Amino acid sequence: MSNLGAGLKTQSWDPSTLPKFEKSFYKEDPAVTARTAAEIEAFRAEKQMRVQGRDVPKPVITFDEAGFPSYVMNEVKAQGFSAPTAIQSQGWPMALSGRDVVGIAETGSGKTLTYCLPAIVHINAQPLLAPGDGPIVLVLAPTRELAVQIQQEVAKFGKSSRIRNTCVYGGVPKGPQVRDLARGVEVLIATPGRLIDMLESGKTNLRRVTYLVLDEADRMLDMGFEPQIRKILSQIRPDRQTCMWSATWPKEVRQLASDFQNDFIQVNIGSLELSANHNIQQIVEIMMDYDKRDRLIKHLEKVMDDKNSKCLIFTGTKRTADEITRFLRQDGWPCLAIHGDKQQNERDWVLNEFKTGKSPIMVATDVASRGIDVRNITHVINFDYPNNSEDYVHRIGRTGRGGELLLLSSLQMMPSRLRIFSLS
Ligand code: AMP
Repeated sequence: MSNLGAGLKTQSWDPSTLPKFEKSFYKEDPAVTARTAAEIEAFRAEKQMRVQGRDVPKPVITFDEAGFPSYVMNEVKAQGFSAPTAIQSQGWPMALSGRDVVGIAETGSGKTLTYCLPAIVHINAQPLLAPGDGPIVLVLAPTRELAVQIQQEVAKFGKSSRIRNTCVYGGVPKGPQVRDLARGVEVLIATPGRLIDMLESGKTNLRRVTYLVLDEADRMLDMGFEPQIRKILSQIRPDRQTCMWSATWPKEVRQLASDFQNDFIQVNIGSLELSANHNIQQIVEIMMDYDKRDRLIKHLEKVMDDKNSKCLIFTGTKRTADEITRFLRQDGWPCLAIHGDKQQNERDWVLNEFKTGKSPIMVATDVASRGIDVRNITHVINFDYPNNSEDYVHRIGRTGRGGELLLLSSLQMMPSRLRIFSLS
């Protein structure tokens, strides 16, 4: 891995010779302009939103105030969403104004659309791709699962303006990805390792990238992608717009922001301290290792009595994930596993079986589960306690997403039904 990217040419950027491009599209709606500072402050307080930086635009409260063109708005309205989420209210004016943005928000907060819709507006204002051109928008994501989810959102909202996209990640054959790149895509969603591979082999280039997104930056750094990210970013013109998203704001992420962003503006949703979602009931049971399996079955008997239950079980290692899955299947439970040693097509299939409820129990390791957007998870069981508190909070976040959806849709029953069992 360490040599990956060694073949990339160092770029020297001369701003005076680079083609000009447009990145500022925001026009404040008169209703937004009319709001007083006190009203804005009250709105931000209600949404647990804090902003930092020079000239941060005011948040918008309705979809119409964001001023998206009708071809984008029609897609949003078709989803039946009632109002922007907190991150969208503040993030849209920030990103549309062409500034570099840092957003601290969890997966499940609606952040994908926060950067996708401005990306679509950005693309539509650029000259068409010429043969051999690389993407205009690059989204870097830590895992294949997250990359695929982002691609689904981009595809949905970019369809009306015929924006082409592809997703490039490891663990699957390169052929189809290479073919998409050769045809030309405006949006490329990629995990860092495979992207470097594609760049080194000349299958794409980043010369046209003017809108760059780093999604789940903290997780990418946790997973050791920092050298690759730095190599990739050095291949992109420095006057691009960069939007960086992260669930947490540790010093490594701050360093990345200060090295690769100019005069950025920041929005934080919720507390800066990583904290567990308090709507979720947490139960801890301490026992000997050899009692855990029996206890697991006892819990499942109760939990799965309700046919609407969907249960995610975390294990510390891939091996335990496989062992527990085998054990549960032998006992007759509808259970599948997802972890880093599985082929991508198997992971996609497992995730789909879980999402659709055909296999309502899924066993997972932390890395494989990160960023997975599965609705209606009612129970998380920590078969092994995670290695650190951050992972514990992220595991809870898997159900927290359900809790989040509660605010957005009609799943009013969720919090009281959410339970987390830790068998340690
Ligand atoms: P994300 O944080 O991007 O993973 O989004 C989580 C989920 O929320 C996705 O399934 C989105 O389609 C959905 N979503 C995004 N924006 C809104 C909104 N304004 N209202 C309701 N749901 C939304």
